[in-house]
Amino acid sequence: MVDFRRLEDVNVSGKTVLIRVDFNVPCNEDGKITDDTRLKASLPTIKYLQKQRAKIVLMSHFGRPNGQRESGASLMKIIAPLSKLVETSVKFAPDCIGEATQKAIAKLKPREVLLLENTRFHMGETKTSGGENGYDPDFAKALATGSDIYVHDAFSVTHRAQASTTGIAKFLPAYAGLALERELDHISQALDIPKRPVMALVGGAKVSTKIDLLKNLVGKLDRLAIGGGMANTFLAALGHDVGGSLCEHDLKDKALDIMQAAKTAKCEIILPIDVIAAEGFAAHAPHRVCGLDDVKPDEMILDAGPDTVTAILDAIDLSQTLIWNGPLGTFELQPFDTATVEAAKYAAKRVKNNGLIAVAGGGDTVAALKHAGAADGFTFISTAGSAFLEWMEGKSLPGVEILKK
Ligand code: AMP
Repeated sequence: MVDFRRLEDVNVSGKTVLIRVDFNVPCNEDGKITDDTRLKASLPTIKYLQKQRAKIVLMSHFGRPNGQRESGASLMKIIAPLSKLVETSVKFAPDCIGEATQKAIAKLKPREVLLLENTRFHMGETKTSGGENGYDPDFAKALATGSDIYVHDAFSVTHRAQASTTGIAKFLPAYAGLALERELDHISQALDIPKRPVMALVGGAKVSTKIDLLKNLVGKLDRLAIGGGMANTFLAALGHDVGGSLCEHDLKDKALDIMQAAKTAKCEIILPIDVIAAEGFAAHAPHRVCGLDDVKPDEMILDAGPDTVTAILDAIDLSQTLIWNGPLGTFELQPFDTATVEAAKYAAKRVKNNGLIAVAGGGDTVAALKHAGAADGFTFISTAGSAFLEWMEGKSLPGVEILKK
C-alpha cells in the first residue's frame, strides 16, 4: 500500500497552491478540444482548494514543443472550457516562470485560479542544463517561486521525472491531489493489497510491449488470462500452428519463461482453448470458430473463441479482484470485438451484483471498455497510459516517490 502525503493533511487556507495537472487533452486540427476528461479530472482538487480559500495556480505540459514556443501548443485554448467547468473566470499567465508570472501569482486572491503557459516551452522541464534527459533544477526552482505548496494531481505523468512532476518537490512541500489519491488508492487496492482471489486479464497486440508486466503479475496473481494477439505467441510456443496470425515467433522462449514463472508462483495461466480464425484483417472478413490445431496457413486469429470466453467468465466468477489491460481481440473490427465485449459486460455485471473489484487501464483498454458499454460499470478506470503500465510492471513511479511519507 502506498503511504503518501495527501492534500487533506495540510492547511491550505490563504496559501498559494501550485497544482501539476495533465491538460494535454486531445484536440482536432482546428485546436478544438475533442475530449475534456482530463479537465474534468482536475475539478475535485480545484473545488476543494476553493472551498479552503486557497489561491490556485495550475501548470501542465501540452504536446512536445521541445523547449520552443509553439502557438499550437499553447494552453490558452484551455481557458474558456476550464472557466466554464470551474464556474470561475480562470486567469492565464503567458509564461510558466519569470517576473510577470510571479506578479500574477502574487496578485491572486483566495479562490482565484491562474493557469500557467505550457511548461514544455522551456527546455529545463525535460532536459538537464547539459541537454541530457531529466530536468534543470534551476527551472524547477523558478516554477516553485511564489507558491507555498505543490500538489501533484496527474497520475498520467507520474512515470516521468521532470521539473514539474518531481524536481519541484525539492523546493516546495509536496502532496497528492484528490484525483491522484483516488487513482493510487484504487490501483494499490487492486494489486498491492487485493481481495483474493485476484486475476488479471491481459490482452492487446504484442508480448514484446508487455513482458515486464507479465513477469511482475505472475508473482502477484492467482490467475492470469492472456488474450489478444499476444496470446498467439504463447500458443505458438506451445507448438500450435497459428497460421497467418500476428505472432512474435522470436519471443517464444520468453513466453515459456513466463509460463514457468507462473507455475513456480502458483499462478494459473488461462490461454485460449479455441479461437476465431478469419480470412483477412478486416471487419466482417469470413471467419469461423476453430480449435487450436485447426488454423489454416492463410487464416489469422482475430478473437478468442466461445469456449475461451466461457473459461474467462468462469475465472471472473472465482475472483474478488480483476485487473484488465488490453482487448481480447481486434475489437475495432466487428465482429471480432465479441470476446472483449462479453467479458467486459460480464465483469461490470459482477461488480454490480457480486462486489467484484474491477480496475482497468492502459493503452486501448479504456476505448475497448467504452466500446463494450461497460466502462461505467468498472470499479475504477485509469485514464493513464504508460504510468498505468509501469505500475503494472511493478516499477516505482518517480512522481509518486516524492509524495511518500
Ligand atoms: P495494446 O495497445 O497492446 O493493448 O494493443 C491493442 C491492440 O491490439 C488493438 O488495436 C487490437 O486490435 C489489437 N489486437 C488484439 N487482438 C489482436 C489479434 N488477435 N491480432 C492482431 N491484433 C490484435
